[in-house]
Amino acid sequence: MLNRRTFLKASASAIPMATAIDALDPFSTLSAQETAVEANGEPAPKLIALPQRMPAIDPATQPWQQRIRRVGQTNMTEHDPAVMNIEEWADYWHSAEVDIVYISVTGILAFYPSKVPFHRHGKFLNGRDFFGECVAAAKKRNMRVVARMSPDLNWGDALEAHPEWAMRNKDGSAQFSSEEPRLFKTCMFSTYMDDYVPAIMREINSLYDVDCLYTNGWPPIGNLPDCHCAVCSKLPPVGTSAYWRVFTDRTLELWRKYDAIAKEKKPDSFYFANLGGNVRGGPNLDGLGKVAAWFQADNQGRTYAEAAVWGCSLQGRVCNAILDGKIAVNVTAGYSSSTPGWRNASKNPGEIRMWLNETLASGMTPYYHFVGAENGFDEDRRWQKTGVDYFGWTTKHDAHFATRRSIANIGVVIGQSTQLLYPGPATARSRAYMHETTQGIYDALLRGRFAFDFVHEDRLEPDRLSRYRALLLPNVAMLSDRQCEQIGNYVQAGGSIMASFETSLYDENLKQRANFGLQDLLGIHKAENVVGTNGNAYYARIETPGQAQAHPILEGFTNTNWLPGAENRIPLAPVRNPVLTVVPGFVRYPPELAYPPTSHTNEPAVVLRESGRSRMAYFPGDIERTYWITGHGDLLRLLHNTIRWITNDERVVDVEGAGFMEIFCWETAPGYTVHVLNYTNPDAQHGWIQTTYPLGPQTVRLKLPQSVKVKSVEVLQAGKNLPFHLENQILQFTIPRVEDYEVAAITVA
Ligand SMILES: [Zn+2]
Repeated sequence: MLNRRTFLKASASAIPMATAIDALDPFSTLSAQETAVEANGEPAPKLIALPQRMPAIDPATQPWQQRIRRVGQTNMTEHDPAVMNIEEWADYWHSAEVDIVYISVTGILAFYPSKVPFHRHGKFLNGRDFFGECVAAAKKRNMRVVARMSPDLNWGDALEAHPEWAMRNKDGSAQFSSEEPRLFKTCMFSTYMDDYVPAIMREINSLYDVDCLYTNGWPPIGNLPDCHCAVCSKLPPVGTSAYWRVFTDRTLELWRKYDAIAKEKKPDSFYFANLGGNVRGGPNLDGLGKVAAWFQADNQGRTYAEAAVWGCSLQGRVCNAILDGKIAVNVTAGYSSSTPGWRNASKNPGEIRMWLNETLASGMTPYYHFVGAENGFDEDRRWQKTGVDYFGWTTKHDAHFATRRSIANIGVVIGQSTQLLYPGPATARSRAYMHETTQGIYDALLRGRFAFDFVHEDRLEPDRLSRYRALLLPNVAMLSDRQCEQIGNYVQAGGSIMASFETSLYDENLKQRANFGLQDLLGIHKAENVVGTNGNAYYARIETPGQAQAHPILEGFTNTNWLPGAENRIPLAPVRNPVLTVVPGFVRYPPELAYPPTSHTNEPAVVLRESGRSRMAYFPGDIERTYWITGHGDLLRLLHNTIRWITNDERVVDVEGAGFMEIFCWETAPGYTVHVLNYTNPDAQHGWIQTTYPLGPQTVRLKLPQSVKVKSVEVLQAGKNLPFHLENQILQFTIPRVEDYEVAAITVA
């Protein structure tokens, strides 16, 4: 494998030296010794000064929820009123120093003597006010209380009295829970949500001192509902943009209604709901971000389908894109959240900790969760120490974990409508298509140690985009004319972009355009419809192999004329001086026929443009996704080289050292934090973490704003101060060792 020094040796003869020495190691395999050599001898990427620090905020002026640092929940079962020791439950969460606990009101089963019709009492309640006793025990220990409801399911007697409450199949039959067929699914467009749910909320308000209202199980996450009831059958067809808009409008209407009910109790109360779903979300995330006082991410752990270790930090980036500093909280399951799962058995402690690490690193507030007091406090108790130890550690460093602003110079447009509604290209229809695309660009950005944020497609205003040197558009197929215009304005103002494949080929209604919405900006013209792969995918031919003028995106490619292309591509009309051209695909078997029918074409495999400070790169292939499904290092190198070229190799934070990691950098009230998540682990892409494999030294460099001085640099896991060097506002220090996670907390003067 190449490291930075051998890469430089190999490429120095082929490319201009000034460009070569700016290259970064895409595989991050430097040894400690090599890092030292580099620090002493070779120039590193251009460090761009951080912006002036934000003005100080008096925490006392913030809404109370902004000061929540730890959240706890024992998810109560119907049997818990018969067996749960309320004092033991409250003592545990108090010992974990949580600021707030979730207590179940529910809606499926009442945990208090509810008088709301069809709010069935749990069969072990026996008239007892279990909810009220729990609230009192929490309040006695100065913990706030979230009143937790579930509006998604109800019982047969409710269905008989209110057939209009049910979600319906096409044949008119009611939809039932796949696991418990006695429970029907309630329709969010029905009066169940307008009458039944508010009745419970008002009953709770009238009886108890709760701090806010919350619904679990609604709105849907990652998928849109498919209901054919009398109301829904009059709505636009499910799965269309028009339906998504109606769905979002209804969600926000109910959200505002419930929020107003919460505020009937006290003005600083609010309503919030279970959210998450990463880049897919559910309702439009831009709209949600505007109404939500608290973003609750139900992203509890890895599954076979969501196998990458960064599932939680990816959610954190989504939240950061839409909340403008409002609180985001992510649930970590202490129980086994796999499929199949064990809701009353503890998860691997290393996996629990990594999920909590990612929560903190990505700027969210950690929330620890176990199901069932009966088993959680009796049969399997292992999760308890993990939570108490972890939260005990964070308590010492609350000021450093409260983030104010992310430090990043690359914006990745997440394309929520594309993620939810676009079915993939005609040649590769698949629900996983955009998931693979996102994972591909995410993995590539981590391996290149780039500092990036997510950007929502409905938030492309100049004042949001101006902080980014470049925007990446990984197959953001659906973009409105207005969004295309905003991206054009961003480039006009000096920004750079990298786009791929069907980006802007569809409008916001998934209506295919005759040509790309960004065609003029990118200088591209679609010549034919998408071409897939039949056996052997296409190649990209290097047009100036071995010559001194080779383009910087080709750095490191020697001794080859061909690079892998991608699985699918859109044939483009020829451009002037293409850097890569398409060698069309052919069969893989039989090998006798595995050769190109045409070995040289004028069809571009990449289109590059420069205009003032702006650089634009467009790949006609689905390069990010193809990288993800093949792992081909050439595609990774091509992506890294291209991102470095469009950003002019500028960085806002530079972390050098061995290992595969995710990095977050934040401005905080005391100063700055640099978070290093160690993913150098055989379990990073599948399964749960069994063992940690620690990393050696990591050298961090940041360029601080004018006149900012450094008081201390402390590593919070190791618990010690580090020596640091500050010269010409460039701060440099070395984190000696990273176990699963380390946080360098910089305190400034
Ligand atoms: Zn319906």
